[in-house]
Amino acid sequence: MSETQHHASDSTEFHHHSHDGGETRREFLKDAITGTAALTSSLIPDMATAQQHDDHAHAEHGHHTDMTPLLNKELADPFNQNTNNWLDAHEKEWKECFDCSADPVTEVELVCIDERMLMQAQTVSGKRILRMAGSGVLWKNLDELVEAVVAYVTAQAKGRPLSSITVKVSSHVACGAAGIEFGNDKDPDESARVFQRDSIVKQLKTKGINAIHTGDAPMVKGPHTAIAAAVDCTDGRLQRLPSINAFVVSDPDNVPHAIEEALLALKIASGSHAYGEALKQFTFVIFSDPMRPAVAEQITKALQEQTKEFTARGMDIRFVTRTAPAAK
Ligand SMILES: [Zn+2]
Repeated sequence: MSETQHHASDSTEFHHHSHDGGETRREFLKDAITGTAALTSSLIPDMATAQQHDDHAHAEHGHHTDMTPLLNKELADPFNQNTNNWLDAHEKEWKECFDCSADPVTEVELVCIDERMLMQAQTVSGKRILRMAGSGVLWKNLDELVEAVVAYVTAQAKGRPLSSITVKVSSHVACGAAGIEFGNDKDPDESARVFQRDSIVKQLKTKGINAIHTGDAPMVKGPHTAIAAAVDCTDGRLQRLPSINAFVVSDPDNVPHAIEEALLALKIASGSHAYGEALKQFTFVIFSDPMRPAVAEQITKALQEQTKEFTARGMDIRFVTRTAPAAK
């Protein structure tokens, strides 16, 4: 039996939930994402196990942090007040966050979509950053993820040996994706680390990829505060953000997965461990690749369709698109 199958059967066995009648975590997540489940009440509490596993007493009785001042601060931020104006006024800054160099790619980092991940101060030539929940632990199956990363690295190598690109896979503490995938484990973060190291990295190595697990990535302490998500459609050339607080989604050329994880960002922000029902506004910033504008169009259309349940509840879901600078 492959590791993928082990992983899948683990999910079936251990990821039952109080809401279900035998429904697995996977099916539930899928339902949540397509809008057929009561997602904010059922999906997010599990993330508490990862986000606050040192703090169960509080998790049982609602949030211990008063989120109102944090939400007001975010809403008052010029970026969130008028994202179009902000991006126009700061065009130089956000454009500098993309690697546009013709330098060969030598490094690819897999980092969580979590907005609390600390980003590098400068854009580095020849580096790509993929942003996936839990560095990939929520992919439907391991083989699919590994194949996607291998195809991605092969394309980035442009004929050079695959080993010329180092793939760094990171974990982080209080990972919501770990809570979703391994919520019934004693230490979901550790389960995610083990999966990243012993499944993702190991499988990538068997495919000739120079992959390493780099341990916990540095992050900001405290609850989720972002009310925006950036979706990078440039295959990982977006390396950082220009002083804005936002989740970042960037998949190895997988549109359905990018859509799923962008929705997950909205669900985290409107979940019980962030702002809950107090959240009335969320902005998606879609960075389109000038060479492949159809990708951004497809993602935007799908997100508009799949956020209708939020707008029906009176939430203001905003979409802002910008064309990323072209690579040289
Ligand atoms: Zn995470």
